[in-house]
Amino acid sequence: MDYRNYLKEYPDANGRFGEYGGSYLPPELQEAFDEITKAYKTICNSAQFIAELRRIRREFQGRPTPVSHCERLSRELGDGTCQIYLKREDLNHTGAHKLNHCMGEGLLAKFMGKKRIIAETGAGQHGVALATAAAYFGLECEIHMGEVDIAKQAPNVARMKVLGANVVCVTEGLRTLKEAVDSAFRSYAQTYKDSIYCIGSAVGPHPFPMMVRDFQAVVGFEAREQFQEITGFLPDVVCACVGGGSNSIGMFEAFLGDPCEIVGVEPLGRGSGYGDHAASATYGEKGVMHGFESIMLKDPNGEPAPVYSIASGLDYPSVGPEHAFLHSIGRVKYEALDDADAVEAFFRLSRSEGIIPALESSHAIAYAMKLAARESGKSILVNCSGRGDKDVDFVVEKFGIGDEYLEQRRAEGKFI
Ligand SMILES: *Cc1c(COP(=O)(O)O)cnc(C)c1O
Repeated sequence: MDYRNYLKEYPDANGRFGEYGGSYLPPELQEAFDEITKAYKTICNSAQFIAELRRIRREFQGRPTPVSHCERLSRELGDGTCQIYLKREDLNHTGAHKLNHCMGEGLLAKFMGKKRIIAETGAGQHGVALATAAAYFGLECEIHMGEVDIAKQAPNVARMKVLGANVVCVTEGLRTLKEAVDSAFRSYAQTYKDSIYCIGSAVGPHPFPMMVRDFQAVVGFEAREQFQEITGFLPDVVCACVGGGSNSIGMFEAFLGDPCEIVGVEPLGRGSGYGDHAASATYGEKGVMHGFESIMLKDPNGEPAPVYSIASGLDYPSVGPEHAFLHSIGRVKYEALDDADAVEAFFRLSRSEGIIPALESSHAIAYAMKLAARESGKSILVNCSGRGDKDVDFVVEKFGIGDEYLEQRRAEGKFI
């Protein structure tokens, strides 16, 4: 395949990446999404929009984020000749890559003359990034969240409120993410004339997988240039963790046409049993859920299966349609790593490099470490999608400060 015009050719006019993607919505919502598509198509070619987004990235987000060479960690692995490099999205304002597309979505809302942003959130990371964007642009922000999640994610709920967001507590059904999505969609259908819906990953109906990809692509384009500046060549392997697939698709896009191996790392959770993981590309099948067609984990009735990962940002039963496509044509390889591998990477990157990664990002780092432990002379570029401050209390309570955990991994013969 020729990737020179890939960004222009995919998705097609119907929002399809090969046989995946599209839009499966009730008519009243379809109208609203069509309006977003039309506005985005106009705006993404506007010099004014692009210049404004560039300025925001530089002056507010702190971009470009650096690429860091993990020299000490690299030396510890295998024969010590592979080199691991991190793209530091943990240094993006608010501590993760999510702000990249939230600022784009906020700016789009502003250009469309909308006064309110609506979204749902599960673990609260998307809610916080969006509340940040809303505050920056002076927009109202309405975040729907299940009652159960609100109780579990108190610090993120507090953050959203401090940033001025209205957190709507959803008390129906299981009171988690699914009910929050339904509630947010209901509110949006009633108010879309002056509101915009903002999806938190490269998933959902067209145009979101495309739009989020475009806004996140800055990660890979920066990293490709920075990596070449540091080393003089291209990485042998590029990898990133995959939940819905936004940080990974943003990282991968710039390298599709290069002779690099590209790997999406999925959460294997407690193992490959039903309900124990969220490795959608690895174990999923084709289907439609949440308004788009992709590969997904289904329950016996064809509904979204229960999923689990130690990293709450990765527990989604599907992946964005572009991942399903890149998987189907074999351009991107998907590998699943479990909780224990991720926790080891969390501790080891912290100790050897002074960088505490998010548990989500730890999956990609663990993959790079395992590769470095068995190969020689390869350079591996990993997207460190976020910082792990949010995970420290939980990890320490569950696993201690690391010594015993790493000792136990050694005893089990699993130490990377
Ligand atoms: C939300 C999140 C993810 C997973 O989302 P993607 O859309 O797959 O990128 C990964 N890392 C961090 C730090 C997150 O907050």
